[in-house]
Amino acid sequence: LAGAPDAGFAPDARSAPNDLAPYWMPFSANRAFKADPRLFVAADGMYYTTADGRQVLDAMAGLWCVNAGHNQPRIVRAIQDQAARMDYVSSFQMSHPAAFVLAERIANLAPAGLDRVFFTNSGSEAVDTALKIARAYHKVRGDANRVKLIGRAKAYHGMGFGGLSVAGIPRHRRDFGPLLGDVDHLPHTHDLAHNAFSRGQPAWGAHLADELENIVQIHDASTIAAVIVEPVTGSGGVLPPPVGYLERLREICTRHGILLIFDEVITGFGRLGAPFASNALGVTPDMITCAKGMTNGAVPMGGVIASTAVYDAFMTGPEAAVELMHGYTYSGHPLACAAGLATIETYEQEGLFDRGPEICAAWEEAVHQLKGAPQVRDIRNIGLLAAIELESRDGAPGARAGETVNRCFDDGVLVRVAGDNLVLSPPLIITPDQMGQVVDTIRTALGEVA
Ligand code: PLP
Repeated sequence: LAGAPDAGFAPDARSAPNDLAPYWMPFSANRAFKADPRLFVAADGMYYTTADGRQVLDAMAGLWCVNAGHNQPRIVRAIQDQAARMDYVSSFQMSHPAAFVLAERIANLAPAGLDRVFFTNSGSEAVDTALKIARAYHKVRGDANRVKLIGRAKAYHGMGFGGLSVAGIPRHRRDFGPLLGDVDHLPHTHDLAHNAFSRGQPAWGAHLADELENIVQIHDASTIAAVIVEPVTGSGGVLPPPVGYLERLREICTRHGILLIFDEVITGFGRLGAPFASNALGVTPDMITCAKGMTNGAVPMGGVIASTAVYDAFMTGPEAAVELMHGYTYSGHPLACAAGLATIETYEQEGLFDRGPEICAAWEEAVHQLKGAPQVRDIRNIGLLAAIELESRDGAPGARAGETVNRCFDDGVLVRVAGDNLVLSPPLIITPDQMGQVVDTIRTALGEVA
């Protein structure tokens, strides 16, 4: 096994693999990986330790999720304590105190009016839950024709059939046969002719939201249940919303009785320097989906934060009746709730929301220093997110970005590829020096790849 653990970093005998074949890895080139495995065995703060003992600066917060940095002691302790006290309890017709406390804490962080929290185990489940709530909401109000769901090009909403149906990254969708039928898509907002090297929200593009009016004209508002967008497109290449765009979507949805869902799986819990993008950008949807930073990535958990109005619409039938026929075995899992509470405490105690604007400003300055580096055709940033878009190599889209990311990894910085983009999403504890290291490493890698 290449890169096998040395004595100092060896996991115990039970977890040292003899055979890599049985594990079918998600979203991975299994054969290439298994020929040259990349194994991590420890993490602390801004750094991973690889199986061969190297320190790697994590400029991706794991996978857009470890917002407070790795192995935060408060979160580790909370999970350990909870595991020792009570491992599991169902959330169907029973529960435990921490689930209610966490829901209250999250409701307090979300914009006013978004006060009801449904727990899931992932972002994908959160999205499918929100889409189901949207349809059921209209039905329970006597508007059962409202079933159409509107997504957006370049969107990522997880891998459930619902999320995939409203998503807009073609290669994610093409192998899985018919998806949900009653779906349409808004255009994306990526336009280098107008917005190249924009900082924060680009000035051009609010009018693209008006495409929703055309969709309403085609389908009729009375058939449309919900619009779902990521406030900042993430996996599609970090596309901040044009100034005024989300406001226009909000206005059109309200006018036509369409629910607006913000998928904040990436942007939630501090990524934009505020609890949610909805707070940071001043636009309030009817539902927020979240996951990732909710537990700092430490235990799988997701959720839907719904408006009181959406929740109340369900609370009208007989009191003994189940209002929403939906839920998961691990909804509100005790370990996830413990991790979630400790995560919010960590964000607050470390001042990560308060320090957001200062860190985000330093980040913007740092990443835009890459303007002029070889093959860079655009740089976009918002909050503690950024994309460095590279010229596509003829016939091999994404290849140059992939090579650059591999070189960065060899040079000790974890960056991610999204199409022709290098995408960055570091923990909120990143220092100016570490921002410099990320930028210098990318610049060197770009020079080598060019
Ligand atoms: N929605 C968005 C915006 C995401 O970025 C992701 C994951 O990256 C998901 C949903 C899916 O989350 P999960 O992988 O936890 O199912």
